[in-house]
Amino acid sequence: MGLAVFSILFPQRCYFTGMILQLTELSALRAAIGTWHGQGESVALVPTMGALHEGHLHLVREAKKHAQRVVVSIFVNPTQFGPNEDFNRYPRTLEQDIAALLGVADAVWLPSVEEMYPQGFASAIHVAGVGEGLCGAFRPGHFDGVATVVAKLLLQVAPDIALFGEKDFQQLQVIKRMVADLNIPVRVMGVPTVREADGLALSSRNRYLSPQEREIAPLLHTTLSALATKLRSGAVAADLLEQAKKELLAAGFTALDYLELRAEEGLAPLSAANISARLLVAAWLGKTRLIDNVRVE
Ligand code: AMP
Repeated sequence: MGLAVFSILFPQRCYFTGMILQLTELSALRAAIGTWHGQGESVALVPTMGALHEGHLHLVREAKKHAQRVVVSIFVNPTQFGPNEDFNRYPRTLEQDIAALLGVADAVWLPSVEEMYPQGFASAIHVAGVGEGLCGAFRPGHFDGVATVVAKLLLQVAPDIALFGEKDFQQLQVIKRMVADLNIPVRVMGVPTVREADGLALSSRNRYLSPQEREIAPLLHTTLSALATKLRSGAVAADLLEQAKKELLAAGFTALDYLELRAEEGLAPLSAANISARLLVAAWLGKTRLIDNVRVE
C-alpha cells in the first residue's frame, strides 16, 4: 500500500504538508511504518523536543544515509523536567520545525501528552549506574523521564535505527544501556555535536541567553578543548579540573554543576590513564543551564 492510498484510508489521522507526512495518532503512525516495512524499506527515528536547529537537522540528514525512511518525533516530554525547570517556557516552534523538515524527513510523529501518558499511567524505566551521576545527580528523575519516553517512542515507531546527538552524551549512554538491557531491536547511533563557528554547541536553550551571556557561552567549549589537549599530553587531571572550574566562574559563569573526566564507555570515574575518556561539563549562565563534552583519547 503506497502512502497516497494510506492517506485515503486514514484521512483524519494523517495529512501531508508539502512532502512530509504529519502523524498525530498512534494507529496512523503504525500503519505508515507497516507500509514502509512491508515494502522492504528501513526506518530511522530521530527523537526531538522540537525548536529544531542545525544540530537536529544534521541528525536527520545522517538518518537518511542509514535508512530509506526517516521519522522525526517532536514531543516536549514533561516527565524529564524537574518541578523548577523550564518545561513551561521551553520553546515550541512547530510550524517552523515542520517547514525545516520538509524534504528532509518522511514523517513527523507528534504524539499528544494524553497519548504518551494516558490516565493511570504508572510505569517508568530507571537506568542505574550510567544514569545516576553527572546530570542524573543534579536533575533527579530526569533520565527516568528520558528512558521511559524513548522506550515508548522506540516501541511506537519500531525503527531499524535511532539517532541521538553526542551533545547529550550521558543521555546517549543511558539509551544504549537501556536498549541492550531490554533487548529492544534497534541500532542506536551517536552523532557528533554540531557547533556554532565560535564553538558553542547548538542547543534549543541557547535562545534563552542574553547578548552578554551569549558572548561568554563559547568559553565552555574553549575550556574543554584546552583541557583535553593538556590531558592528552599527560598533565594531572585533578589539578587541571579545579583550575578550569575557577576560570569558568571568573569568566562569568554563574555556577558549575560539574566538570568531570569520565570513562567514555559507561561514564565510570576513570580507573586507568590509557582508556578513552570524556570531559563533561554542566554550567549555568544566569537562568540557563548549558552542557557540553569532548573526547579525550
Ligand atoms: P532535544 O530536542 O534537545 O531533545 O534533542 C534531540 C536530539 O538532538 C538529541 O539526540 C540531542 O542530543 C540532539 N542534539 C541536540 N543538539 C545537538 C547538537 N548541537 N549537535 C548534534 N545533536 C544535537
